[in-house]
Amino acid sequence: MSQFTISVLPGDGIGPEVVREALLILEQVAKNFQHTFTFNYGKVGGVAVDETGTPLPQETVELCKNSHAVLLGAVGGPKWDQETPERRPEAGLLGIRKALKLYANLRPVTLFESLIHASPLKREVVLDTDILIVRELTGGIYFGSPRERRQGRDGLEVIDTLHYTEKEMERIIRKGFDVAQGRKKKLTSVDKANVLESSRLWRETANRVAKEYPDVQLDHMLVDNAAMQLVRNPRQFDVIVTENMFGDILSDEASMLTGSLGMLPSASLGVGGPGLYEPIHGSAPDIAGKNVANPLATILSAAMLLRHSLGLEEEAASVERAVDLALEEGYRTQDIGSEWERLLGTAQMGEVVRSYL
Ligand code: ATP
Ligand code: MG
Repeated sequence: MSQFTISVLPGDGIGPEVVREALLILEQVAKNFQHTFTFNYGKVGGVAVDETGTPLPQETVELCKNSHAVLLGAVGGPKWDQETPERRPEAGLLGIRKALKLYANLRPVTLFESLIHASPLKREVVLDTDILIVRELTGGIYFGSPRERRQGRDGLEVIDTLHYTEKEMERIIRKGFDVAQGRKKKLTSVDKANVLESSRLWRETANRVAKEYPDVQLDHMLVDNAAMQLVRNPRQFDVIVTENMFGDILSDEASMLTGSLGMLPSASLGVGGPGLYEPIHGSAPDIAGKNVANPLATILSAAMLLRHSLGLEEEAASVERAVDLALEEGYRTQDIGSEWERLLGTAQMGEVVRSYL
């Protein structure tokens, strides 16, 4: 029996509805396995702007820092589109990632066989796809300086800077090896080493770290080839580790392989401190408050929270199994169902998954 503190940031739109179902699941897990979870609620995003004037109150930052993990719904919506940059809900999310020093973004792409019709790929290509993309979050071309636009001799010219330290590369590559050890022990390191100096150091670093993980098979793949292989033969991948921009693009590409946005969880991990767990979908204002949103991405994010921040593998697997069972039994929310299936609302889907725990 263990005691854990979890910060809960429901956020905007469908955030509160889907987070509620994930919390009920966590409460059930606590009961089943005799743990004590304490949930502390905080505000972030549009609700925080409305109530406190900032998308990320200091109180929320402190709350998160003093917990084992953070569960987030989603932030944003048309209501706040006209806000100044520092008052936009998304700034709250960026702020919290920064405050918690989250450097590793983990995005599993798992095909649920019963949802295979939703995939844009042919059944025989996509069947058994189970990939985990590990993306670096703090460095690379999105954050390097100088970043500028200036007048050159032939008109405007621009500079973006791709900067990484060897330590930053090693940290994320190590994370890739660590998670690969808990899976099929196959790591694909993605770079552009035929062109970029940063990628050459990346590849050297991966080869060096690999010596400490003799049980994991390391392959290198150029990013253009990886983009193609994800669609040609996604099953060849187990864990993919890559830098910030390549990971941004590849993880969005990969997330579409299953065709079910409402099913995909994510984790962002820091150094020692709490990890942040959230569905990859947004706040979906078009369906907010209607009890039709699919809560499974958030429930699966809670499973990742159990696994990666609390070290509760068996508990995490029990949640994933319950989701699997619910789908196999034919339970569907509107986004993954079709008219001849019996469709459930958000709360009803949560209840079904709980019943399988
Ligand atoms: P953001 O900028 O916040 O990421 P977005 O423009 O990417 O938002 P989402 O909020 O992710 O959009 O929603 C995209 C579409 O998918 C919407 O039409 C929404 O209704 C649908 N959608 C998103 N999440 C879910 C969910 N959990 N269940 C059902 N439908 C969803
Ligand atoms: Mg989006």
